[in-house]
Amino acid sequence: MKPLNENKIVYIDMDHVLCDYNAGYKAHQEKYPDLKYPQSQPGLYQSLSPMPSAIETYAWLDNHPHFSVYILTSPSIKNPHCYSEKRIWVEQYLGFEAVNQLIITPHKNLNKGHYLIDDNVKGKGQDQFEGELIHFGSERFPDWESVRKYFSERYPVVDDL
Ligand SMILES: [Mg+2]
Repeated sequence: MKPLNENKIVYIDMDHVLCDYNAGYKAHQEKYPDLKYPQSQPGLYQSLSPMPSAIETYAWLDNHPHFSVYILTSPSIKNPHCYSEKRIWVEQYLGFEAVNQLIITPHKNLNKGHYLIDDNVKGKGQDQFEGELIHFGSERFPDWESVRKYFSERYPVVDDL
């Protein structure tokens, strides 16, 4: 068991960060070509593929001795299915234990923590988050490899000999 109070709390967003929303939306649009909002139909959120290296890097952060990792995602409030589908996705790709780390909220700023990895810098409280915003998809953090490199340089793990 990690000493929780000493750990840095890292929040990770889902859409466009853990989950490939764009590809899933496109596929859903092809399935419902006549709908203006195909994302309102059940099935989209749980059908999303993981972003490249997302699962591996989640596991790396989760196993890292300095971090406590949580998933911090905003719901599509007009789509009640998305709440349960996000929960299903997390278990499917990250395992049942990760469901315990899942926080669904439209107000990300209310969660205490040190880091928020998110593709949006505002809209759901990201701009008022008390910690550091890791802007996923930006020039500085274009992908999961760059995020991992950033954390591994800042928090090197010294092996016990
Ligand atoms: Mg997002």
